[in-house]
Amino acid sequence: MSRLINFSAGPATLPLPALEHAQRELLDHEGTGISMLEHSHRGAAYQKVHDECKALLVELLDVPDTHAVLFMQGGASAQFALVPMNLLGPGQSADYVNTGTWSKKAIGEAKIVGQVRVAGTGEVNGAFTRIPSQSELKLDPNAAYVHITSNNTIMGTQYHAYPDTGAVPLVADMSSDILCRPVDVSKFGLIYAGAQKNLGPAGITVVIVRKDLAERSPDTIPSIFRYRTILEGDSLQNTIPTFPVYMVREVLRWVKAQGGAPAMKRRNEEKAALLYDLIDADPDFFRCPVEKGSRSIMTPVVRLPSEALEKKAIAEALAAGFAGIKGHRSVGGLRISIYNAVEPSDVAKFVEFLKAFRAAN
Ligand SMILES: *Cc1c(COP(=O)(O)O)cnc(C)c1O
Repeated sequence: MSRLINFSAGPATLPLPALEHAQRELLDHEGTGISMLEHSHRGAAYQKVHDECKALLVELLDVPDTHAVLFMQGGASAQFALVPMNLLGPGQSADYVNTGTWSKKAIGEAKIVGQVRVAGTGEVNGAFTRIPSQSELKLDPNAAYVHITSNNTIMGTQYHAYPDTGAVPLVADMSSDILCRPVDVSKFGLIYAGAQKNLGPAGITVVIVRKDLAERSPDTIPSIFRYRTILEGDSLQNTIPTFPVYMVREVLRWVKAQGGAPAMKRRNEEKAALLYDLIDADPDFFRCPVEKGSRSIMTPVVRLPSEALEKKAIAEALAAGFAGIKGHRSVGGLRISIYNAVEPSDVAKFVEFLKAFRAAN
């Protein structure tokens, strides 16, 4: 077996111990004689996995009693629509901070549902290279909520301090940085994340919602789309993707064994520093387009002196065992996604590759 070092933006690399454990018990889940792929979502074997997965999220993210953890489907993209469907009442308006591709998509979906204001932007000369500061935001004190994109997977920007929105609920798309560091969940009305970047495989979306907000889901939307329904049904109102939940549990067990969110923060900052130190030490060759205070510790982006050199680096990296470093087609360059599961030693190896590439070019 030869596994590549996978820097893909998502679905992304998973911790090897999680994959190996799943492999060992794939045919027979804990002596039940049935695979987790085959167990009923209403049975005791799955319920145990479900409960442990939820409990680990509560523990590792320190989710307070005021909030509930939900498992949903349709990815973050479904949440772009479900957030306004549930939280944007008639006659109300929602504030959105536009920090690039995913924020724009969230704004586009919300506009279909109701009234939207753009309360801030990370755009500088046509490119989204920074996170606007609190003082730049023009927040509406009567907004139904304020929506932000915590880590801009494509642009390589990330919030390092979340905006203070006062009494207005803060909603965050944390798809590409959930659990990369400790976060004060009590400051958020709602957090959502597709699992396939930092939590597990594709197929499940984690939603952490303040219970009183979930209770507000209107009866005018179909029941399966209401946060209230999912909360009351313990996320089991229909056939949940059981195996993705099982895999998220495997990943969370691994995160816990590493030391939880504080350990993830140290590990991720260490990996990011390896890359950014190389970039900053050699500005004639490497360039990070993102403003320093807005740089992502999850999805760093880097440009080389020419597109031809970038293409060459991507091809040579793959030949050397590093996959998934091509930047998003909308921004170009390289993107090295260093989610929780990526090992610091693998980032160090990649930095050595880049140094050798630089020396040869
Ligand atoms: C990947 C990503 C999405 C899209 O997620 P889907 O699960 O494919 O809908 C949305 N927002 C952010 C920040 C992402 O990184």
